[in-house]
Amino acid sequence: MKSNMLLFIMLLWMFCLRLTPAESAEWRVQFADGRSDYPVQTVTINTVEYLALTDVALMYRASQRWYSDLGKMVLKLNRHTLRLTVDSPIVVIDQQSPVKMVYPVELRNGEVFVPVEFITDILADMTQTQLKWDKRTQTLKLAPTTTTISNLRFRVSRDRTIVEVLTSPEPEFSLDASYNGRLILVIPNGILDAGKISTDTPHGLVQRVLAYQTSGQAQIAFEVSPDAARFQAQPLTNRKGIQVEILKATARPKPASRPASPDLTLGASDLPQFGKIVIDPGHGGKDPGAIGPNGTQEKDITLAIARRLKTIIESRSNLDVILTREDDTFIGLGERTKIANSAKADLFISIHCNASHSPHAQGTETYFLSAARNDAEKEAEMRENQVIEFEVPKNSQPPSDILEMMLWNMAANEFHKESQDLMETVQNALQQKLKLPSRFKEGGRQAGFYVLRGTTMPAILVEAAFITNPQEERLLNTPEFQEKIAAGIYEGVVEFISRYKQADPWN
Ligand SMILES: [Zn+2]
Repeated sequence: MKSNMLLFIMLLWMFCLRLTPAESAEWRVQFADGRSDYPVQTVTINTVEYLALTDVALMYRASQRWYSDLGKMVLKLNRHTLRLTVDSPIVVIDQQSPVKMVYPVELRNGEVFVPVEFITDILADMTQTQLKWDKRTQTLKLAPTTTTISNLRFRVSRDRTIVEVLTSPEPEFSLDASYNGRLILVIPNGILDAGKISTDTPHGLVQRVLAYQTSGQAQIAFEVSPDAARFQAQPLTNRKGIQVEILKATARPKPASRPASPDLTLGASDLPQFGKIVIDPGHGGKDPGAIGPNGTQEKDITLAIARRLKTIIESRSNLDVILTREDDTFIGLGERTKIANSAKADLFISIHCNASHSPHAQGTETYFLSAARNDAEKEAEMRENQVIEFEVPKNSQPPSDILEMMLWNMAANEFHKESQDLMETVQNALQQKLKLPSRFKEGGRQAGFYVLRGTTMPAILVEAAFITNPQEERLLNTPEFQEKIAAGIYEGVVEFISRYKQADPWN
């Protein structure tokens, strides 16, 4: 009897733990910009204050999209995209940087709620606003943080001029060309000393700088010389401020190390957007990969295809390409995704050759990251993951930092749909180019390739053809076939990017 009572109390206790006490209330939000107050829904979950995401979007004039089947909410705010997932504390900013909050996003009565830290830590920085939270009067006060523009610094080289606009704190900004050939940099809530910032002294491609202060914003107009052909602006990386880059027609834009504003060049390229793509030639060094009946090593073929793909991409688009290896060296699987993540790449493509016990197996396959579903997928997954044995002592558990890996994995899952789409466009383009028998099934191939895990971007793995099939082994060794594979992958990438541009009304 006594033990029954104890069991009952324990069950009751567990039941209470499962029920998160939630207390909802209506607060008023007040704006400094003259908008009238309005009520917002708040809820207290385990003593943490939450706000309805719909209200947050209204407060910040953000557009929102709810993917109910995925439990995801996407906010578009100024130049930024924020992805939130129900029950997850991770916010992915601009498809690249996962930020971990202390508390997860919650779903209550069909409404998505975000912890207050989402506003005070993430949105405040992003929008240059301060939120004052007054518990006593149940009001929220939203006011802009002003940005002081302290100085301009010029860096002039042969084909480009860089103007560093130093500010405090980090600014919001936009850069546009005006009708009379000036570049206009607008800093909302910016404050400047027009006399100090304006200058008649030419610096490289900048002939004159005119600064204006209006009540709501600061404007800096750059008069540029006639041979200035392109320009772009992005946040400074090493300190607070904006980097305005003005280039001659001959200059190649440097890769942005942070999400840049779109490159404003038009034409001359079939990919209108600035971006970075990591190409990962499978295997290398002490890891030869699969070996064909005539001794062809997978690592040599993957490198040859990757080099051709790099050449094609660089000559036909303004995408930047990074290879995870340039030569026959061994690089661990975890290291490959680390290269992609630290480069903040937009796409990750791992290139491999397929292998089978049967010499008759043939064709092209493209995979994206997920849990392997059928035996063929499991076999491919096991084969490509064998390299882990080269990397870590047997019986030890890769990766070493499980927690960090989990965080990246969660972020990678944000790109499940994109990866699937990329897999599809690349597979279709390859099939058209190579005319090999289709191994592509409806719904595509999914497998948990280690190399694709942990990438915070759409990621696919291409198994170009079967190195274990004598005919395909011969083809894989020919420059023509390697070029076709590279061209097929490129066309798939172009199709993917243009699809996403069309599909997204915000772009
Ligand atoms: Zn391989």
